[in-house]
Order: sequence, then C-alpha cells, then structure tokens
Amino acid sequence: MMTSRNPYTGKELKQFEEMTSKEVDQALKTAEITFQEWRKTSFRERADLMRKAAAELRKNETEYAETITQEMGKPITQSYAEVEKCAWVCEYYAENAEDHLSQDTIETDAVKSYVSYEPLGIVLAVMPWNYPFWQVFRFAAPALMAGNVGVLKHSSNTMMCGINLQKIFERAGFPKGCFQNLVIGSKKVEEVIRDKRVKAVTLTGSVGAGKSVAATAGDEIKKSVLELGGSNALVVCEDANIEEAVKICVQARYQNTGQSCIAGKRLLLQESIADQFLKKFRKKVQELKSGDPMDEDTFIGVQATVKLAEDLEKQVNQSVEAGAKILLGGKREGAYFEPTILTEVTKDMPVWKEETFGPAIAVMNFQTDQEAVALVNDSEYGLGVSLFTEDFQRAKKMIPQFNEGAVFVNELVKSDPRLPFGGTKNSGYGRELSFHGIREFVNIKTVYFN
Ligand code: NAP
Repeated sequence: MMTSRNPYTGKELKQFEEMTSKEVDQALKTAEITFQEWRKTSFRERADLMRKAAAELRKNETEYAETITQEMGKPITQSYAEVEKCAWVCEYYAENAEDHLSQDTIETDAVKSYVSYEPLGIVLAVMPWNYPFWQVFRFAAPALMAGNVGVLKHSSNTMMCGINLQKIFERAGFPKGCFQNLVIGSKKVEEVIRDKRVKAVTLTGSVGAGKSVAATAGDEIKKSVLELGGSNALVVCEDANIEEAVKICVQARYQNTGQSCIAGKRLLLQESIADQFLKKFRKKVQELKSGDPMDEDTFIGVQATVKLAEDLEKQVNQSVEAGAKILLGGKREGAYFEPTILTEVTKDMPVWKEETFGPAIAVMNFQTDQEAVALVNDSEYGLGVSLFTEDFQRAKKMIPQFNEGAVFVNELVKSDPRLPFGGTKNSGYGRELSFHGIREFVNIKTVYFN
C-alpha cells in the first residue's frame, strides 16, 4: 500500500494498492502496441497533441496545482507556476522537435551519407516528488515528440500527481499507452528495467536511487540518464550589485521551501562585502512568509514529509555542535523547518559536505577568486553555480574553472526548455531539455549509400 498524506495537515489523502506484476505486464503490452503505431506518426500529429496537453494543463491548472500542494506541501502560487512551466515545455517541443531531430547530411566518400534520429521504444521514468509535474514533463515532452512512449514510476508520496499526469495525456487525446503511470514502489523498478520491452530509463532523484537504477540498466546494457542531487554554490564577489544579488540568492535557496536539486545551498561571500550582504540577506529571509501552503501569500510551506524536516534538523544540529552559528531560524515543528542561515561553517560540517534538502543555507567567506573556485568545486556534486559580479572579464576567467553542469552569472541556476540541464560528478550524467535532451533517447542511425 502507498499512502498520500498532506504534509501540512498530516491528514491521509488517499491510499493506493500497488500494481501486480501481471498488471505491469499488461501496461507494458499496451505501451509496446502503441509504440508500433506512434513511431509512424508525423511530427505534426505529435505536435498537435502536445499543444493540446499544454492547453489541458492551463484549462485545469487549479485541479493540478492543488493536487501538487496537497500532496507535497508546495506553496500554491509556486504550484501554479510549475503547471505553467509544464505547458511551456510541451509547446517548446511541439515547436522544435522536428528541427532538433531532422536528418544531418554529412559529406563522406559515400554517394550520400546522413544521420537520422529514430525512437527507441518504451522509456521508463523514475521521478521524485519535489517538482512532481515539471520533472515528469521535462522527460515526457521530448521523449514522446521523438516517437517514444513513456511509463512513469513516480515517488510513493506523490501518486495522486502520477495519476493526474496520465490523465493529462489522455485528456489531450494521446493514444492510450503513450504515457502510463505505474503504481509501483521502488522495489519493482528493477523488474521493469529488465523487461525486454523497456529500452531505456531516466531517473531524477537521490544518488542512492541513481546508483541502483544505473547498475541494473548497465547490467542490461540499456541507456540511462541520471539527474541526481546537488549542492550548488552562490558566489558573491565584492563588485556585485548587492541589492540584486541578495534578492536572487533568497529566491535561489528558499523557493520550493528549499527542496530543489539546483537550489543555492552554499553561500560564498567575498570578505569585504560579507557583513553588509549578510545583514540584508538575513532581513529578506526573515520577511519570507511561512504558512498554509494553500494560502496565496505563503512563500515557505512545509517539507514534503516530517522525515525530510528531521533529516535537515540533524544536519543543522550536527553542524552547530561542530561550531557553526545560527544567524536565523534553526528550529523544526513537524514537517515545518524555519528558514535558516548558518555562519562560521567549515568544510567538515554536514551542511557543507552533504546536500541539504530544505530551507537552510551554509555561509562561508573567501578572499580571492581562486579560493572561491576551490570552494565551489569542493563538493561531490556538480549541478551548477551562480556567480555574482559586474565584471564580465572576471566571470569569463572563472567559468572554465568550475566543474559544474551550468554556470549562471548574476542569475539563479534554473531550468529552461531551450537550454540543456544536467550535472557532473554525483549529480549524474546525460542532459535533459533543449536539443541535447531530445537526443538522449533516440537511435542515432548512420546511413551510407554507395
Ligand atoms: P529518491 O528517494 O531517490 O526518489 C526518487 C525516485 O526514485 C522515487 O520515485 C523513488 O521511489 C525512486 N527510488 C528510490 N530508491 C530507489 C531504488 N533503490 N531503486 C529504484 N527507484 C528508487 O529522491 P527524492 O527524495 O524523491 O528526491 C530528492 C532527491 O532528488 C534530491 O537528492 C534532489 O537533489 C534530487 N533531484 C534532482 C534533480 C535534478 O534534476 N538533478 C531534480 C529534482 C530532485 P519511492 O518514492 O517509491 O521510494
């Protein structure tokens, strides 16, 4: 049994019985039959349906946004924004998939040689609860436009979202079997990956889950893409626009109640501006409105489960025992964790070494650019970094030195359908979104005429 529980009220929302192996087999049968037809459809037909999915998201945005908020505690305005972003990625791929996958003619010794991009078949998506719609759409929109079909294994605590996601594709008119939600726990994932009909797998989630899924996929010689954790740094140089940087850093760390892979979890301040920055930053964080996630003026909701808040509490407490100072917050009540700022952080502390998945930020100072680069790279993760400086030459010198999947200058690290998204090191491999993302799950076929 899987249970959906509202983390704000603690009330049970719904229980789900797991699908049996026979039911999973039936779903894969449907997916395989659908794939044989779907792969023959034109980009135009697929694009029409994808635009209908975007329209459906907008038409019933309240239903979808409220499900997200109830199931995982995201403040409602942020849930609406998530639904809207899903519509954007549908429209982006409806518009661009054909171009991204058009044949590339390549001059060789042949009379004619080219590369074509063909669908693989059924792709399994194992997805997390933190952006329960967006993570799924950023996989599904390109995968379906490429002619694949998808099966979803959503987080056990966001099964209502999983069911709604299947409904969106059905309501948009996609053939049955193009996108199906499997009501299964993580123990059944291996069985699905090993199924001959499943050709590839993508996982967004923790490092542990990534290792396990990648090991099975590797054993079956199947393609995998992994989008795992992150511990992004926010680097504020002395020549930064401080007011702007403060605003962006608050957003980067505390949106989605701190539960984002690309959140700025480590704040690095150049010594000469550290005090004035921190004063303004603390004031802004203190002003963030905590409350009922269903209220429109709430910015900080609750964490998705009590366990997540307890994990964060442990990381904060252990860091304080090791000498960190609490500048703001630090306390937990149920699934709620106060927006927290920790200073005097050192590299041996959990809030530095580990990913913190909630509203707490670790602050450290630096003096030189080399020192800042070394601190940013001092992480087992490599999703992205934000650099704040008004000096573009300085930024250009630093950019190649970061071992990260993305560098954003004077902006928070964010995903955008037009840009590739993904990490290095323990943050995973492969890319989602853009031209790069849609080419992850295709057969890159070389064709040679002589
Ligand atoms: P999680 O516990 O790893 O769960 C993610 C998904 O994997 C869920 O569907 C989960 O199913 C499944 N899963 C867990 N263990 C598994 C295993 N051994 N084998 C197969 N499937 C397994 O992660 P989470 O707590 O939901 O999400 C938070 C993590 O995701 C953070 O580390 C965050 O940084 C990362 N994340 C990364 C990105 C990115 O784009 N890089 C985006 C968002 C989140 P059950 O729920 O049934 O266990």
